[in-house]
Amino acid sequence: MTAWYVGVDLGASNIKAVVGQESGSVVSRARRRTPPGPDGDAVAEALVAATRAALDDAGVAPEAVVRCGVASIGPLDKAAGELGRSANLGPGIDRVPLTDPLADLLGAEVTVLNDANAGVVGERFYADRTPDDMAYLTISSGIGAGVAVDGRVLSGWDGNAAEVGHNTVEIGGLTCGCGADGHWEAYCSGANIPRHARHVHETEGVPTDLSLDEIDAKDVFEAADDPLAGRVIERMQAYNAAGVADLVHAYAPLVVYVGGAVARNNPEQVVEPVRERLPELVMTNVPEVRLTSLGDEATVRGALAAAITAGANDRSQVRP
Ligand SMILES: [Zn+2]
Repeated sequence: MTAWYVGVDLGASNIKAVVGQESGSVVSRARRRTPPGPDGDAVAEALVAATRAALDDAGVAPEAVVRCGVASIGPLDKAAGELGRSANLGPGIDRVPLTDPLADLLGAEVTVLNDANAGVVGERFYADRTPDDMAYLTISSGIGAGVAVDGRVLSGWDGNAAEVGHNTVEIGGLTCGCGADGHWEAYCSGANIPRHARHVHETEGVPTDLSLDEIDAKDVFEAADDPLAGRVIERMQAYNAAGVADLVHAYAPLVVYVGGAVARNNPEQVVEPVRERLPELVMTNVPEVRLTSLGDEATVRGALAAAITAGANDRSQVRP
């Protein structure tokens, strides 16, 4: 009898679910928009609906699932199996139960991990270069990392290790969504790039043809010839390189996989400059910097990989 596994990804915009086998091969996928409200239960219902749709598509009964991995935006409460109040979800959404609704559907053990940790678990499972010391960095709506050190994926007591997007890159700088000042994410994440552009326009007086009240991150990257957009991209390249250098000094990875929509959609403006600048900034070993091998599925495939590996030999890799 085939052993089936489920991976689920709760993102700020989308929920994804996949059904796969022990080899990691995926047999079906489903996707839902992340509901803006009215509450956390609505989000949990969408998680269950996406999972059920993926199972139906695969012709797999819920009770045939051995284990489920669910990867989520933060902040996680791993003990409760819940997502706490997130700045990236609707204002009415307080807590989102993750473990219980999926365990009820599947009658299986559910492993919860943060989305960036899922990224590194996924790369370790699927990529062709998987040294014991490696990292996955996501530059998306937010910025975060998952790291493996000495062959163990670091979790931290609350599951929030390596939240490098909240490293300070500018003392007293722009206020981050978390409330603190000068964080990397406040300048370079997809959600914050428009604010960064307005900040540079106001403080440096760089002219622009962009409608600053209406732009999104894509507009900035597409307008690279605009003086303001060009300046913002140049500043982001410096911050991204500094942020990755911090990651390297903290965790000593041999390879850093970079994913997330901002990086994947603009590799020449986001990933390549990090690769070029890193040797000047790093005093230890300079790692290889690669674009993720898993496209826009790094998180959900990582959740699947976590489900597959959680019960096996390596309990340390993904703590339930
Ligand atoms: Zn922050």
